[in-house]
Amino acid sequence: MSTETENKSKDLLRGGQFLVKETSAENVFTPEDFNEEQKMMRDSVREFVDREIWPRKEEFEKKNYELTEDLMKKAAELGLLGVSVPEEYEGLGMGFVTTMLVVDHISGATGSFSTAFGAHTGIGTLPITLYGTEEQKQKYVPKLATGEWFGAYALTEPGAGSDANSGKTKAVLSEDGKYYSITGQKMWISNAGFCDLMIVFARIEDDKNITGFIVENDPENGISMGEEEKKLGIHSSSTRQVFFNETKVPVENMLSERGNGFKIAMNALNVGRIKLAGACLDAQRRVITSAVNYANDRVQFKTPIAKFGAIKSKIAEMATSAYVGESASYRAAKDIEDRISIRQESGASHQEAELKGVEEYAIECSILKVAVSEDLQNCTDEGIQIYGGMGFSADAPMESAWRDARITRIYEGTNEINRMLCVGMLIKKAMKGHVDLLGPATKVADELTGIPSFETPDYSELFAEEKEMIAKLKKVFLMVAGSAVQKYGPQLEDHQQLLLASADILIEIYMAESAILRTEKNAKRFGEDSQKEQIAMAKLYLYHAVDTINSRAKEGIVSFAEGDEQRMMLMGLKRFTKYQNHPNVVELRNTIAEKVISENKYAF
Ligand SMILES: Cc1cc2nc3c(=O)[nH]c(=O)nc-3n(C[C@H](O)[C@H](O)[C@H](O)COP(=O)(O)OP(=O)(O)OC[C@H]3O[C@@H](n4cnc5c(N)ncnc54)[C@H](O)[C@@H]3O)c2cc1C
Repeated sequence: MSTETENKSKDLLRGGQFLVKETSAENVFTPEDFNEEQKMMRDSVREFVDREIWPRKEEFEKKNYELTEDLMKKAAELGLLGVSVPEEYEGLGMGFVTTMLVVDHISGATGSFSTAFGAHTGIGTLPITLYGTEEQKQKYVPKLATGEWFGAYALTEPGAGSDANSGKTKAVLSEDGKYYSITGQKMWISNAGFCDLMIVFARIEDDKNITGFIVENDPENGISMGEEEKKLGIHSSSTRQVFFNETKVPVENMLSERGNGFKIAMNALNVGRIKLAGACLDAQRRVITSAVNYANDRVQFKTPIAKFGAIKSKIAEMATSAYVGESASYRAAKDIEDRISIRQESGASHQEAELKGVEEYAIECSILKVAVSEDLQNCTDEGIQIYGGMGFSADAPMESAWRDARITRIYEGTNEINRMLCVGMLIKKAMKGHVDLLGPATKVADELTGIPSFETPDYSELFAEEKEMIAKLKKVFLMVAGSAVQKYGPQLEDHQQLLLASADILIEIYMAESAILRTEKNAKRFGEDSQKEQIAMAKLYLYHAVDTINSRAKEGIVSFAEGDEQRMMLMGLKRFTKYQNHPNVVELRNTIAEKVISENKYAF
């Protein structure tokens, strides 16, 4: 390992460790750290979207599936379908951060294109690049990377949604051992209407776990499709049922090993989840920009509505959620990229390194999926409100943005499933000794019975109080989740409402900390004055995070602890969520809103 790699490795936290270790601002990657190549990539994607997708926004509402397919071909001509694919398979071989940057900016105009792009480049291609044999990769990946072929991913079935491993689709080996015969029904398959290849999951005999197969879409081979689904949103994204009737698949098209399909499905989804967070970012920026354009133009009571405190408050909150989402998404993306390069430099193949690199941050991937999809939903909802009656009209951009946003809370694992996963995975990591939760949790328990310090802290440095607050919020998680684990052990899984509350605490900590670290880093290098609004956003987000954490933790404590234990934990909660100096929330919002309103766009 080179010295540079060793240093990188030393500073890089493991997935989930953010909860028990402090990250310094210098070690966090921010959107202000993009290199020239990344900025060029971002600008060319933006230019593509502004030229080809945004002007056709209305057309996307008319169930024009061909339009989506045509634009996918155009994206392919620019190389955008192969950004993360290694060069030897005709991709651009770019790093994880650049891949995020592309998915972020290509997804801003409409969920229809975003879904088609995500299904093809993510779950439709990745299982082969991550798990395929050399022959499989040579045969299929160049076709997918160049858009000669389009991919889809067929996991869900009528009876197997969240419980993805329970599918009934069967794969039966032929007598001559040359092929599998696949029979079954898949549902909700994105890109089904125009795909050339599908990653299909089926069960061999009575195996415990499903198996993955690469299946070419050939109607002559027992494959038929249902009609296009009639959906609430993403109207030009093709979504169909797919029926397999003794579809013959050569044995060499099995992905990885027999019974490994569930693992493939889950790992493809880890990548899918962080990219879905990325895919919600530019959608938020565009919604904010449209909303503020409207608010500056629309006059009521002889005043542009942007001047009203009620509207300013919405604009400030919308901008804050987008800024925080960006901060956390790119922080995690770079951690993944670094972990991949560390593994590669230690001798792992690209395939192995990418697989393990993303798996390491599966907790962060779930956190981001939940947080950013919900932020987008809120953002589009407030966007409608700012437009008033026009917001409800299909002639204005908010109506479709709101409908399109809704699916992001459902696919790639529902937000309930992802909430439970992120806490569950963290506890598993602790049990395996990958993240030490027990030590810090014991310290918090001791602190609860100890005497609090009455020293007057020095908060003169930027974010001194906020960083102290983040440290205290981490104690809240350790106190609540730690006691819950102690009380219920492995049965904690059955206490879903407790898991959901713990997940919200975890999510808020990661998001708030990411925004503070990004802003601190930028304030140090560009000067505090240049970051006035960003500082306000980091503080505003933290203020809300403290409230959410307080209420979710309280809910947990009063539900599973009793008597003295409950009283002690509630006192601890009060101490750990206490501001010495409350921020002036209205002033923070006004600072943020005034910047967005004066620039007439999302300005960060
Ligand atoms: C437009 C669209 C595109 C899609 N694209 C694809 C695709 O390309 N490929 C593919 O394979 N799939 C795809 N899906 C399927 C999608 O991933 C599933 O819809 C999703 O995983 C949820 O499964 P389900 O619909 O069966 O809901 P269910 O699993 O029936 O869930 C219903 C509700 O119950 C909750 N729930 C379920 N289990 C639990 C539990 N254990 N504990 C607590 N709550 C639970 C869920 O959170 C949800 O709120 C797509 C779906 C849609 C709508």
